[in-house]
Amino acid sequence: MRAAERAGAAMIHIDVMDGRFVPEITMGPVVVRAVRRATALPLDVHLMVVEPERQVRAFAEAGAARLAAHVEASPHLYQTIQQIRALGVEPAVALNPATPLEEIEWVLPVVTAVLVMTVEPGSGGQPFIPEMLAKIRGLADLRRSRGLGFEIAVDGGLGPDTASSVVQAGASVLVAGTAVFGAPDGVDAAMARLRAAVRPVRRPS
Ligand code: ZN
Repeated sequence: MRAAERAGAAMIHIDVMDGRFVPEITMGPVVVRAVRRATALPLDVHLMVVEPERQVRAFAEAGAARLAAHVEASPHLYQTIQQIRALGVEPAVALNPATPLEEIEWVLPVVTAVLVMTVEPGSGGQPFIPEMLAKIRGLADLRRSRGLGFEIAVDGGLGPDTASSVVQAGASVLVAGTAVFGAPDGVDAAMARLRAAVRPVRRPS
């Protein structure tokens, strides 16, 4: 994580999995609190948990700067987002590959970011789903037509070969795990490759 910070990462993205919304179990607020102490970067916490409304306070207190709840996991999403905002944390909404944009349409004015899953959530190292590019473009169109300002973040299967197409489609936050931490030549080289891949298409935001 410190290597990612040195290499110029903008945020640390933390995948929280509960063994119910997704099969794996990863980390909870105790680990997030430890991460908070280890880096100065903002913590972008992705809650892959059922009933996220029951967990947002603990993660806010642990030091999250941004909290993403899944639309598929939260029947009262609007309220969950308000709850996150009231805790002084930036609210984001995440959606699975099969979930249409219509599901999040009415919360777009109240979120800081939308996290588009470009793989099925639950484990790292899966291939990028190319059909998701149309979803990212659709989301960028909605943002333009409604005059909104949320960020478009993309999570899953991103690497030097897929990064430029998602940026071209409208994404400005790229979450990379395997491509950065699984690179045989190290985090610095991996981050440099990602930057080089998006440089020709990056637009002022
Ligand atoms: Zn994630």
